[in-house]
Amino acid sequence: MDPADIHQLEDDDRRYVWHPFTQMRDWMDDTPLIIERAEGVELIDLQGRRYLDGVGSLWTNVHGHGVQRIDQAITEQLGRVAHSTLLGLSNVPAIDLARELVAIAPAGLERVFYSDSGSTAVEIALKMAFQYWQQVGRTEKTRFACLDNAYHGDTIGSVSVGGIDLFHRLYRPLLFETIRLPSPHCPRCPLGLDRRNCELACAEHAARTIADHADELAAVVMEPLVQGAGGMIVHPHGFLSRVSTACRDHDVLLILDEVATGFGHTGRMFACEHEGVQPDLMALAKGISGGTLPLAATMVSSRIFEGFLGRHQDYRTFFHGHTYTGNPLACAAALGSLRVFREDRVLDHVRERAAQLERLLDAVNLRPSVGDVRQRGLMAGIELVRDRGTMQPFEPARRVGHRVVMEARQRGAILRPLGDVVVLMPPLAVSEEQLDRLVRITRESIDAVAEAL
Ligand code: PLP
Repeated sequence: MDPADIHQLEDDDRRYVWHPFTQMRDWMDDTPLIIERAEGVELIDLQGRRYLDGVGSLWTNVHGHGVQRIDQAITEQLGRVAHSTLLGLSNVPAIDLARELVAIAPAGLERVFYSDSGSTAVEIALKMAFQYWQQVGRTEKTRFACLDNAYHGDTIGSVSVGGIDLFHRLYRPLLFETIRLPSPHCPRCPLGLDRRNCELACAEHAARTIADHADELAAVVMEPLVQGAGGMIVHPHGFLSRVSTACRDHDVLLILDEVATGFGHTGRMFACEHEGVQPDLMALAKGISGGTLPLAATMVSSRIFEGFLGRHQDYRTFFHGHTYTGNPLACAAALGSLRVFREDRVLDHVRERAAQLERLLDAVNLRPSVGDVRQRGLMAGIELVRDRGTMQPFEPARRVGHRVVMEARQRGAILRPLGDVVVLMPPLAVSEEQLDRLVRITRESIDAVAEAL
């Protein structure tokens, strides 16, 4: 592209676009990186520079960019119909995808309610759980329990069950009250215990809280195994299954938010499979369409679904729906993505790359400014600290995570920080060489920034 045109686009971005989760004053002082196209696991900017997509375009991209089988599924659907509504009508890709999702989901999840983002998928699960209890005569079950450090999206309901103070504190007057469970973050154990001999006291604590509040609890909502936006907090094995058992024992619904973990990122199609847990409701988004088009789904058990059945005049209908619910193009993309999962044995590939990532991260973990490295499958977080011994953080004003990410950009990789946790979550299709390169760039960027402080 002509340099003058690039200049114009940069100016127009600074002038007209408001970017999410961004301090726009800083943004407007800087030159935006504008992505024009992508190939495989690489993003390409207007000047033709290539960057490894180290966070899978915000945890959505699964098979790389420009995957022919997905693009073709979208194009063929485009030749039929781009959009028609699911309110009062149906469409072929929405039906086909619902059938396929039910076939691959944990047992018991038998209905699919579509929407278009992770936030809406969670919001819908919350409303469904609430309404379910109202309609089966347990009207006192109105509250939700959720984990500290949770992130479930940015709509008011999903913020209510969130636990990241920086994002959520300001909105408190708008939010509903929840019951908090400790986040099982072993390097900074909320109970002050040591993982080697704690006997999973956090899970017992959560189970006791669920039991104590069972009469008023509609549901527990949580991210299974990895709390992504909370800082890639990897839960100790057994936490999820203990919470699930407590929910079953006390007739509290379990809502699992697999928006980040779903579609292979932990090495299984859904993270809850690692502990044999079957939720009552499950929220899906991000990777569902392979990272191509906005799509989300809330899957529910027959028990929940049947709680909404009745005569018209009973008004047990779920009065909720978005204009683009069940969009045929997005559903066609998701069908294409599931086809790639099957044909390319993607989950086997993830397990190999995850083992490689673990080996590579061992070397990163030796750096004095690295306090903790946590990983599950192809989800990883590297926590940078001032003092490795005491886990004392850097002063926030130093923006160490941000600076590492900017350094990585110069070296050809796009990363994103969560505070001072550098996140790696590449597309599942990442090759051995690309993963080597991604971790090498990350390590060199940490050395250049954090080790120099
Ligand atoms: N739930 C989890 C676990 C997430 O990680 C996210 C986004 O990062 C969301 C929900 C919200 O998804 P969206 O940004 O599509 O609304």
